[in-house]
Amino acid sequence: MKSGELFERAKTLMPGGVSSPVRAIQPYPFYVAGAAGAYLKTLDGERLIDCCLGYGPLLLGHAPDAVRAAIEAQLADGWLYGTPCPGEVALAERIAADHPSIDMVRFVSSGSEATMAAIRLARAATGRQDIVKIEGGFHGAHDAVLVKAGSGATTMGVPDSAGVVADLVAHTRQVAYNDLEGLDALLSSSEDIAALIIEPVMGNVGPVLPEPGYLQEVRALTLDYDVLLIFDEVITGYRLGIGGAQVRYGVTPDLTTLGKIIGGGLPIGAFGGRRDLMAMVAPQGPVYQAGTFSGNPLTMAAGSAALGWLHENREIYARLDAGTRRIEEACAGAGGSFVRLGSMFKYFFRPAAPTNYAEAKESDTAAFRRFWEKMLKKGIFVPPSQFETNFLSAAHTDEIIEQIADAYSTCLSE
Ligand code: PLP
Repeated sequence: MKSGELFERAKTLMPGGVSSPVRAIQPYPFYVAGAAGAYLKTLDGERLIDCCLGYGPLLLGHAPDAVRAAIEAQLADGWLYGTPCPGEVALAERIAADHPSIDMVRFVSSGSEATMAAIRLARAATGRQDIVKIEGGFHGAHDAVLVKAGSGATTMGVPDSAGVVADLVAHTRQVAYNDLEGLDALLSSSEDIAALIIEPVMGNVGPVLPEPGYLQEVRALTLDYDVLLIFDEVITGYRLGIGGAQVRYGVTPDLTTLGKIIGGGLPIGAFGGRRDLMAMVAPQGPVYQAGTFSGNPLTMAAGSAALGWLHENREIYARLDAGTRRIEEACAGAGGSFVRLGSMFKYFFRPAAPTNYAEAKESDTAAFRRFWEKMLKKGIFVPPSQFETNFLSAAHTDEIIEQIADAYSTCLSE
């Protein structure tokens, strides 16, 4: 059975043939038969260098020994208890120790659940109803954050999906990234704003980077207006270093959402923050939140193993930063713009690096698509969208990075 045939079957069984929309590559996606290190092996017999890496969780690469051993050890003892397990205490300790802003944490099963709960908590803690998000910021697929991110919807929420109640989304206000004046104006316009939720480095349009001082000023403004600051570090957590963007930029949010890397590649999310806020979460407080698979021993074991490995191998952050710099060099003079931060990177088909969502959207997506196909033919899988961040992992050796750089250089010059 080849990928094309399997996709025909899948389309009769699952909407669009997939379990998550971005995977529905046309005319058909490749199916993966196995993955190890920096490579995916497709059902059609190809071996691809993976720069998508599960959309971010796989900072150690596919099936790394450290995580695999922890999963195997846990398997022998079962994988779902429905009661507390020692592994959740260990992972919570690790996360709290790594994030000065986090005194307490609640584990959930996805980043979407984490942002949904953090927003509920912020509303409860402040007694206010509105939230502010950044245009183009992605915080998962739940109603409050599924708001059209475009210039026409700068300050007024418009549902971005059928089936979302307009009244609810009207409580979601928006402002452009890197726009401090706009944020100031928005925060001063209403007394009913509970929180600002922001990806400190935008990962779902790019990446798009904060201008110098932006995040510090965002913190200052939210304090001035007494609005809670939620850093959505689902992508950036442990990706930009131990402690994520908040440690890297020295900014302390009130609440943080995490996911992806902290589960070592198994499904996870988490939200955490100041003790007084987190004490409001059930059963300690009145903000309800619960989940069958939350804090399950298998994910906890995989997450602790991954984070433990990162602590012991911190040098990979510098090596991968050098890796994306090498790829950037290979793209020099190709006419577009290369944006990178640590192991996050993207080539935009747009002359200047975007500073916000509206600018990122000006990229030539048809040119991206042609480039993407050429890269795949050269054996490199980058996410199939101009607006998804590419990643490197610890399994990407310097030799593999050189191959990626060569492919960029060739495919951009063709
Ligand atoms: N927040 C950010 C910044 C994300 O990038 C994502 C997913 O890509 C989410 C939240 C949602 O996480 P999940 O897909 O685990 O629900």
